[in-house]
Amino acid sequence: MIESVVTPAHRRLPTRAPYADYLAGRSPATLPEFSRYRPRPGHPDWRRLDAEAAELAGRVGPKLEPARRGPVEWRRRAASYRTALASYFENRRRAATGRQDLLPLYFIWTTLRPCNFLCDYCDDHRGRRYPELDGHGKLDVVRGQKLLEVMRTRTPSVYFAGGEPTLRKDLPTLTRRARDLDYYPIVVNTNGSLFHRLLEKAEWSGFLADVDVLVVSLDALDLERLATLWRTPHPEDVLRNLLLLRRLAARAGVKLLVNCVVQPGHVADAVEVLNFALDLGIGFTVVPKNVGPRVDAALLRDPAYPAFVARVLEEKRNGAPITGSLRMNQRLLSAAPFDCRNTLKPHVDHDGKLAWPCKASENVAPEWIDVLAFEHVDAIWKEGVRRRDPRGFHGPGPEQCGGDCCWAQNYTTDEYAHGIEHPSHLLRTLVEFLRGAG
Ligand code: SF4
Repeated sequence: MIESVVTPAHRRLPTRAPYADYLAGRSPATLPEFSRYRPRPGHPDWRRLDAEAAELAGRVGPKLEPARRGPVEWRRRAASYRTALASYFENRRRAATGRQDLLPLYFIWTTLRPCNFLCDYCDDHRGRRYPELDGHGKLDVVRGQKLLEVMRTRTPSVYFAGGEPTLRKDLPTLTRRARDLDYYPIVVNTNGSLFHRLLEKAEWSGFLADVDVLVVSLDALDLERLATLWRTPHPEDVLRNLLLLRRLAARAGVKLLVNCVVQPGHVADAVEVLNFALDLGIGFTVVPKNVGPRVDAALLRDPAYPAFVARVLEEKRNGAPITGSLRMNQRLLSAAPFDCRNTLKPHVDHDGKLAWPCKASENVAPEWIDVLAFEHVDAIWKEGVRRRDPRGFHGPGPEQCGGDCCWAQNYTTDEYAHGIEHPSHLLRTLVEFLRGAG
């Protein structure tokens, strides 16, 4: 079993060249010869898809705004780092007195609930699928911009999620506002299925240049498997669009990542996605499938899983662009016990309500705080503590969350909590992130 997932030494490529391209923001335009990934029957015809991607890129590329560079861009990043640094010192002060109402590293905004897919594993962190929830009540563009303004008072980074965020026609206006407010990085998580149409539109011409990290879900490469998993008749659109985005990413200055949810019984799919991403020089993010607020136990029992974990860690050690630090990946992939600090990554729902202290909590329902009723994150956090002090919230008791969630985000906050006591570790993690592996 191990042989099937660990790359034999004679097939290993020198890692420097493709990763150097990725880390420097230079995606090679043409499709390389695959060396790790082996296309199988049922996988797409990559040459045909890439020819389609090239044709699209040739048509839309010249109309897109180029990457933002120079003093304005440095100033934006510096402003975000200042916020993060100020929060770090304040969070150290709070942690030293036993407080757990830590100021946010970033916030996750469910910009809307509807989605054009119906992925098997995706829910709203409360066991309900987004497309099956009432899609009404999302913030309009004016209130969306106001939300970004309020959260920016203490938050350096924003993560646009959904549902499918690209279903919002005003998404480019919101990402532009986020950029003007000096958020960094600006991350968008998408199923990627619509870009061939969206990028033709003038309103989307600045979108890629405004976003720092584009995360595209990719859980397998077999088209039938993807059609079943995502419940879409056109999974090929995503794969063609991924090749399109790869061609456009360098010019727009956006980092492209694929996010792979590893499913029990389908670890080989994740191996193929990893190999494919490494061959193409695309960043790879991996997360084990969760059932409710904990990892799917069947995955941990899957005999193929340990070798996959070993392979991911080996690639990470070799410098592959795999999101997060080595420690974080080790802990995430083994579902290690962790220190959940949810106020570091608050979820704001489609209607502008922030879940306090945690959206996923099973034993205790979250408090919903209307962000737009406040002018400053400090006031929101104060209100949160008034309603429920997050001290000791993570745990199995009836007044605790009842979960052990196994998402990358939780292990990121765990890294940060660890870094409050070990600043040098945090600095190393930060450097990895800023190098682009982030
Ligand atoms: S472990 Fe608990 S506090 Fe943390 S995200 Fe899961 S349910 Fe929420």
